[in-house]
Amino acid sequence: AKKEGRNNFQFYNKLLDKKNHERLEIENQLRKALDMNEFSLQFQPIMDLTSNEIKSVEALIRWNNPILGKVSPDRFIPITEETGLIISIGEWVLRTACLQLKSWENNGFHSLKISVNLSIRQFYQPNLISMIDNIIKEIEINPSKLTIEITESMTMDVETATSILYELKNIGVNISIDDFGTGYSSLSYLKTFPIDSLKIDQSFISDINKSKDDENIATTILVIAHNLGLSVIAEGVESKDQLEILKRHKCDEAQGYLFSKPLNSDDMLHFLRLNS
Ligand code: C2E
Ligand code: CA
Ligand code: CA
Ligand code: CA
Repeated sequence: AKKEGRNNFQFYNKLLDKKNHERLEIENQLRKALDMNEFSLQFQPIMDLTSNEIKSVEALIRWNNPILGKVSPDRFIPITEETGLIISIGEWVLRTACLQLKSWENNGFHSLKISVNLSIRQFYQPNLISMIDNIIKEIEINPSKLTIEITESMTMDVETATSILYELKNIGVNISIDDFGTGYSSLSYLKTFPIDSLKIDQSFISDINKSKDDENIATTILVIAHNLGLSVIAEGVESKDQLEILKRHKCDEAQGYLFSKPLNSDDMLHFLRLNS
């Protein structure tokens, strides 16, 4: 038994070593990824449920590294957060997204909007406002066409968050609360924060056609949000059944594989031509 315990210990040690090694390798590769042009953006349509037309797209980062292959953002974004690399990567994402929007505009899609995810470290970076404002001015896009997605966890420090959000509104961009319902939801802040929309998290949508509880949660979010003048986007919509329920409850917009998976810029242009 003693021997077995020791073997187990060595086994876990090896697992830990492997994990640490993998994490270090990702970190090393991330440090040069921006210079090596390894990042790209994909775009997922956000559909208007009244007109059934595409209204906006969400920019989602992709990383393809020669050694590690494709690494998902859920895996590497947290590491860019811990290392501070998110500041330069986040600026690249915003600039690339705005340039892409400009190019679609030049292709005739004048009312299309774009959403960009912000991480917590970016949200609290001291020059956030001037960084965004400079990019908007440099590329000459209408700030009302840009939505910044933040999550509830970023707003724990209510006072600081409120003042950052007001500064963002001042430069004219829209603000959306992402993954709504999964964080520290205090409904009271919906009233005090100057936000424009909520994105109901995928976890409440996936069983909405099977679970009365999930349907009730989604409906309640919709009623509260609409009473506060906020528009609501459903995330992760994969089936027609889910869509029907959301439409019945007056959900404003939806995003998910039912409409399209995230697309590269060429495929997105094609989608725009078919759905505008
Ligand atoms: P998110 O912001 O909640 O993005 C939605 C995620 O759900 C995306 O995963 C998208 O591909 C996926 N998705 C969309 N529709 C469906 C569906 O119908 N079914 C299912 N199962 N999934 C769907 P992705 O692209 O892997 O991104 C994961 C997360 O990584 C994002 O979650 C976001 O938190 C983060 N992320 C992605 N790009 C960026 C970025 O540029 N900056 C920052 N800070 N975070 C990013
Ligand atoms: Ca998002
Ligand atoms: Ca989300
Ligand atoms: Ca998410």
